[in-house]
Amino acid sequence: MANFDRYLEKIRELTETVFIPLEGQMEAEGDVPEPAMQAIRDSGLFAISIPEAYGGLAFTQEQQVRLTFEFTYASSVYRSIFSTTIGLCSQAILDFGSDEQRQHYLPRMAAGECIGAFCLTEPEAGTDAASLQTTAVTDGAEYVINGQKRYITNASIADVLVVMARTNPDVSGSGGISAILVDPETPGVSITRMDKLLGQRGTVVNEITFEDCRVPVANLVGDQEGLGLRAALRGINHARTHVAATSVGQAMRILDEALAYARERHQFGQPIGDFGAIQTMLADCYAEIQAAKSMTLEAARLFDDAVAQGKPLPTTQIAAAKYYGSEMVTRVADRALQILGGKGFVENNIITQFYRDTRLFRLFEGASQIQQRNIARDLMRGGRPD
Ligand SMILES: Cc1cc2nc3c(=O)[nH]c(=O)nc-3n(C[C@H](O)[C@H](O)[C@H](O)COP(=O)(O)OP(=O)(O)OC[C@H]3O[C@@H](n4cnc5c(N)ncnc54)[C@H](O)[C@@H]3O)c2cc1C
Repeated sequence: MANFDRYLEKIRELTETVFIPLEGQMEAEGDVPEPAMQAIRDSGLFAISIPEAYGGLAFTQEQQVRLTFEFTYASSVYRSIFSTTIGLCSQAILDFGSDEQRQHYLPRMAAGECIGAFCLTEPEAGTDAASLQTTAVTDGAEYVINGQKRYITNASIADVLVVMARTNPDVSGSGGISAILVDPETPGVSITRMDKLLGQRGTVVNEITFEDCRVPVANLVGDQEGLGLRAALRGINHARTHVAATSVGQAMRILDEALAYARERHQFGQPIGDFGAIQTMLADCYAEIQAAKSMTLEAARLFDDAVAQGKPLPTTQIAAAKYYGSEMVTRVADRALQILGGKGFVENNIITQFYRDTRLFRLFEGASQIQQRNIARDLMRGGRPD
């Protein structure tokens, strides 16, 4: 395992010297600037979740979370570029892929030479993912894929699509769904970018149409059909923990920006940060960030313990950290915008950008309502997990 403390310091420095200075350019142009993209590849951020055997840095989930606190102190758009590769895609291949698939994809993913996009959501299947309608029908040694996906991060810049498709139309729920690896250049795949996002300017979000797209049956992830959503699960829980950590990183930056303004802006002959009403907002932000940080670190530690002991992942604690963190950061952003006064509405500055960017966290990787449902369901079924 690489020396973690040195690596953490390197990522902190990268955030300060490359990511933060390029935020304005990224917001203006709507794309991650090439020097930042190169720095992401060179620094090994694509490798943090991949084992050493495949050229990765093999950091634990707790270490990945601590790194995420650092690099998401800058715009979360940078994270979006490598998040689908380090989480959903690489983890599905790692856990369920064949040796050949692991050898083919994971070293290139770790090097930042193979971006993965995870294709689950469809126009009629969002939260209810198990009802997806994309089909993969066997024809000799090939699958023929037909269907539509939407809101897919990084598909138009991806080198591999991990596509969830129904391989058994007779099985209606998750049991009929398989994960299949698709080269985006395959005939029959068309990808368009959705560019009118509320926030996250620079994040690549796509619609995909599959029309008689043929891929070898050897591209199935897993040794049998029907394991698609199970293969997705490890990656989804990995990603939820990372969204919780991203919420903390973003909230820390927002609070620092709000503090700087509260010191600098004077009204009634004094800094607005001296008013009790502003102090209440600042204190609430700080306390809630600390709470979310502790919950996220604890969920990550439990994640690591579960993996080490071959036990089920701590899904209740992960759901709670993702739910609380994502709701927390939007409260922090809202208070920070209030502290800016009219400037928060009229100008496009880092607080207003993050106010728009962070709204996403309550919607994807399982919306807040689904985290609440899952937490309550787990509690009702099995008592209170510590
Ligand atoms: C920027 C962005 C990037 C994304 N990236 C990806 C990606 O890379 N790959 C991918 O596959 N998907 C991706 N998604 C999709 C994302 O995971 C879905 O948007 C999410 O699952 C919700 O689905 P939906 O948008 O269809 O909303 P819906 O499922 O239609 O939900 C609408 C509302 O109903 C609520 N709701 C739904 N079911 C229930 C229920 N049972 N109980 C209570 N409330 C409920 C929801 O919480 C929500 O408030 C992305 C989305 C966005 C916006």
